[in-house]
Amino acid sequence: MRTHRNRRAARAAAVVAVTAVLAGCSQLPLAIPGTAPSERARQPVRVSPDGFMPDWIEGLTIVHDASEDPDCPWSTAYPSVPGAAPLTRALRNAVRDYLASVREGGNDGGACLEPAGTPGLQVTFDFLVASGDVVGVRLTYRDAASADEATRTFWYDGRTRTVVRPWALIAPSARGEAVAGIREALAGRPGADPDVARAALARDSRAGTVKDLSFDSSGGLHLRFRPGVVAPEHAGRQEVVIPRATAAGWLSAAGRRAQEQAVHTEHRLRLGGRPASGEPATPTTPVTPVTPPSREPAADVDCHQVTCIALTFDDGPGPYTAELLDDLARHSAHATFFVLGQHVAADPDVVRAEVAAGHEVGNHSWSHPQLTKLTSTAVRQQLARTDDAIDRATGDTPTLFRPPYGLVDDAVRREADRPVVLWNRDTEDWKVRNADKVATNVVETAQPGDIVLMHDIHPTTVQAVPRILDELAARGFHFVTVSDLFGGRTLEPGRSYFSNPSIANPS
Ligand code: ZN
Repeated sequence: MRTHRNRRAARAAAVVAVTAVLAGCSQLPLAIPGTAPSERARQPVRVSPDGFMPDWIEGLTIVHDASEDPDCPWSTAYPSVPGAAPLTRALRNAVRDYLASVREGGNDGGACLEPAGTPGLQVTFDFLVASGDVVGVRLTYRDAASADEATRTFWYDGRTRTVVRPWALIAPSARGEAVAGIREALAGRPGADPDVARAALARDSRAGTVKDLSFDSSGGLHLRFRPGVVAPEHAGRQEVVIPRATAAGWLSAAGRRAQEQAVHTEHRLRLGGRPASGEPATPTTPVTPVTPPSREPAADVDCHQVTCIALTFDDGPGPYTAELLDDLARHSAHATFFVLGQHVAADPDVVRAEVAAGHEVGNHSWSHPQLTKLTSTAVRQQLARTDDAIDRATGDTPTLFRPPYGLVDDAVRREADRPVVLWNRDTEDWKVRNADKVATNVVETAQPGDIVLMHDIHPTTVQAVPRILDELAARGFHFVTVSDLFGGRTLEPGRSYFSNPSIANPS
């Protein structure tokens, strides 16, 4: 375990160094603080300032859903940890409840949010702890209508197989003392109002007030509050930090286990008395340097001589990607996968399989945000983390980029510094969710040189693929990667590509 983490930490430090060079400055809010190498090596790899991806959990999947509509961007994701079904249910329900709360007026499935004043909605996650018998996850909710993001933490206690609400991590007998300690920590701050804190932490409201409770790697207890909850709105977000020893006196049995595992990240994850992870010392993830997977020899297809089309699959890898790879292999079809870094980090093997089968893999960001709304630093981190996850999985850094929702501006182009691959055929499969309709959309509109947009996170899309392959192959189409569609032409960094019309009428 120690070896595994050390190598991963060293790798992260290298990525941080690259990121800092790209930034041309050293003031980035980076995941690994500027500690000496020997200190760095002891820290678990953090994929964001708040969380990490426990890719040593066998069978970890990310449950992701998104639109690809620039007029209606939304994206949700949460992890599904094998052996922690109650946690998965709690996360799913929380995401569903949140969507329901912003979808006033109701709507069906993946249709656009109503009212139309809530674009840019996103639910993301971070792992806080995944060791011993404890899993901690934070969900972060953002929408363009709210000035601040909301967060909520979920703690799964593998010993009792229950999800423990944040306030239940504090022992009932110590809650009075804990409230006094939290109020005292808040009292001396700029803009503090003791009456606001007292009301928020009153006996009847405190369980609803404390939504985000976590531990740092020293065992310190952190409580986060949105603006206006425990202090006046203008005082902003509040985070109270209680030292480990003090916190230890407040915690319930579940809370003490959570604190213990937050400190001892080297503990192997065991849920319900059974190991929930692979042997950490021999992780299933290839760790740097990886040998690039042996590839299928490139199909000898000249798109100036035969009819070509590029099928592209975004937002994966997901639970149906392996099945899709089988379908593509049966037809000797190649495709391009624009993957999300957080999914690659959770399940690197399937991305490695994509490359091994001769498919192309491109960068689609880490967590599917609207990149045009982020700072340059945040865009850079979205892309760099994803490059790193792909590189760790496949041994190669992707040369193609597709922005979530197809939304791109000059700043994003500059940060991406590679060709921006968009599409000219949108199946709207994320909205349609019907295999027949998706297949019909493609086969009735397909033209040589097209780039077709689909998403392999939807079972209905994967079910549509065999018919697409059968019917288009019967019409003489060859299925090629985006790079092969442009057959040797150098694609320019920062430029958008929607199709290759020059091969539309092969001689
Ligand atoms: Zn997407």
